[in-house]
Amino acid sequence: MANFKTHVLVAAAVSGSATVVALSSDLLSAQVLPAYFLLGTMAGLLPDIDSDNSVPIRLFFNLMAVSAAFAALFSVVDRYSIVESLLLWGGVYLLVRYTVFELFIRLTVHRGVFHSVLAACFFGLLFTCIADSWLHRSELESWLAGVFVFMGYLVHLSLDELYSVDLTNIRLKRSFGTALKLVSLKYMRETLLLFVLTLMLFSAAPSGDVFLQTTWNGEFYQDIVNKLWPGGRWFSGLWPTHS
Ligand SMILES: [Zn+2]
Repeated sequence: MANFKTHVLVAAAVSGSATVVALSSDLLSAQVLPAYFLLGTMAGLLPDIDSDNSVPIRLFFNLMAVSAAFAALFSVVDRYSIVESLLLWGGVYLLVRYTVFELFIRLTVHRGVFHSVLAACFFGLLFTCIADSWLHRSELESWLAGVFVFMGYLVHLSLDELYSVDLTNIRLKRSFGTALKLVSLKYMRETLLLFVLTLMLFSAAPSGDVFLQTTWNGEFYQDIVNKLWPGGRWFSGLWPTHS
């Protein structure tokens, strides 16, 4: 199993490359690019949120708790006094950070349902829905948020799988095949629940038409290939040329 540092580094490298491609093919504007980079990198840590004492899980639940508290605050801010709003903010934060966290810890087993492609789809769709309905991003931007999360998640699963192959004497460690799997058949009940939740998110997600039209055609990839290598001299214009 790859360690925390490896996960961060590789996820950041893949995510960084993806943002360069997204910028040069006009998928994303420069202003939102850093957010996508962070999203992809963070997703590279997400699959380990079910190891009960991991740094990512605490970070994730803190973030979720703060987001939920602000979402609750924004929805009632005109109706209540400052003290009431403050109590509501704190209440929602504590509820998510401690009660939901406790429930989550009890319900999940490390490397159970979360180390699967199904979970990658779940989190991808979750962030597509958040970007769409909470942050009011465009359809294309929302789906790209989901794609970045899905990609970062798969990077993590692949790394875990890669590290389960003992490269020095080509032997498979016992953990081989536990990281990258489509669904977790060992935990049928949890897998079924995750599947239903994923379907619910899919039906709640914005239309993917614009995203598919933009990315699912030969021209788009041809354009990326054309821009991949310099046509003439490398870094022309960066250095003074002597004629
Ligand atoms: Zn892992």
